[in-house]
Amino acid sequence: MYDVIVVGARAAGAPAAMLFARSGHRVLLLERSVFPADTLSTLYIQQPGVARLARWGLLDAVRATGCPPLDRVLYEVGGVRVTGCSSGIDGIREAYAPRRYLLDRILVEGAVAAGAEFRDGSEVTGLVHDGDRVAGVRWNGPDGAVHTERAHLVVGADGMRSTVARLVGAAKQVEHPALTCAYYTFWQGPRTDFEMYEGPTGWIAAVPTNDATLIAAYHPQHRFDEVRRDAMNAYLESVRVNAPALHAQLDDAERMERLYGTGDQQNYFRTATGPGWVLIGDAGHHKDSLTAQGIGDALMQAELLVEGVREHVGDPVAQAAALSAFATERDARLGGPFQATLGVAQADAQGRRIALLRAVSTSPELTQRYFDTLSGVVPLDGLYTPELLRLMQEVAATG
Ligand SMILES: Cc1cc2nc3c(=O)[nH]c(=O)nc-3n(C[C@H](O)[C@H](O)[C@H](O)COP(=O)(O)OP(=O)(O)OC[C@H]3O[C@@H](n4cnc5c(N)ncnc54)[C@H](O)[C@@H]3O)c2cc1C
Repeated sequence: MYDVIVVGARAAGAPAAMLFARSGHRVLLLERSVFPADTLSTLYIQQPGVARLARWGLLDAVRATGCPPLDRVLYEVGGVRVTGCSSGIDGIREAYAPRRYLLDRILVEGAVAAGAEFRDGSEVTGLVHDGDRVAGVRWNGPDGAVHTERAHLVVGADGMRSTVARLVGAAKQVEHPALTCAYYTFWQGPRTDFEMYEGPTGWIAAVPTNDATLIAAYHPQHRFDEVRRDAMNAYLESVRVNAPALHAQLDDAERMERLYGTGDQQNYFRTATGPGWVLIGDAGHHKDSLTAQGIGDALMQAELLVEGVREHVGDPVAQAAALSAFATERDARLGGPFQATLGVAQADAQGRRIALLRAVSTSPELTQRYFDTLSGVVPLDGLYTPELLRLMQEVAATG
């Protein structure tokens, strides 16, 4: 009998397993992939996520992988440019973009060091029930054998296509159609900060990582069928049109890997919890990756869950109340960023974003608040002050 079984061992699951184990609970962490394993990601961890890694004692290991500190950011929309950096949290001003096979290994090592039992190559295929209550999981081990284990709490941290969510029937309470599709690869040669360009046909991001610069192209979702037919040409053309200076650097650069991509950029909140189960990370909530928040959201939810529930694991009434409070707080914290991401990923709202950038570039204080808001250091309503809205109207009126 475990206290907690966590399904999925990346940005949400591994820290949840670590924090439950550090609280003295007996934890089983199950992962379908065999680690170390890569996953689709443009890698950028904003300052609140970095600050959590520091609090948990894992940031030194991330730094030791050699990924550079990212303390200069450039945003450009329709030729209007701002540069700066988030003011950070707990004295940490930099973001990082470690390769996922390195980051996720560090997170799992943190869980194992805290006492969690980790089994990779282990795919959860079913749940165990006590009446209407989830009381454990069934999984296929690497040896092909079917295993069953029981626990007071099953945590579904198994991503957007969550098996746990499907098995408990967790409905999508809020849903929005996909807005973008994303393609990226790794280059040796370009010298960039963390840079984000929005031009006439889409968005380009440059993200310095351990051994290369990741360059991503985000196209509007309605172009997905056309783009996927010749994704590499569409990618290069988008860099050329939307970030010409970056494209010029590619002439002397070497592409290190194939092109990776996805059109499955879902936007939703699923029901977060029910008797004996809870969903965290992408399993419970997903938004377009254009605003690079999924890793930080997953780390935040792991912490929020464990802080609220750890004293109550195994007490059905108190555990249910704590899980319900987690769900309410999840929605409160992530509702604003969800709406903001939908706004950013809507290609036809570029005029408003240009007005915003023009307005924030009129004062150092507004520029700083802009970077603090994008990084998640201050909430969204801290940006859209009456002063900023007035400035946006003025710049829109003057064209
Ligand atoms: C193209 C792209 C770019 C992105 N860029 C960024 C970015 O720059 N910054 C950022 O913050 N976020 C980014 N994200 C989002 C971020 O990667 C995710 O939000 C984050 O990884 C979610 O972590 P997770 O642990 O919830 O889920 P996942 O990373 O999906 O991990 C779930 C794990 O569960 C395992 N699993 C699944 N089913 C089972 C099962 N039945 N049994 C056992 N194990 C199972 C999977 O193998 C997987 O390892 C990006 C996403 C995409 C697609």
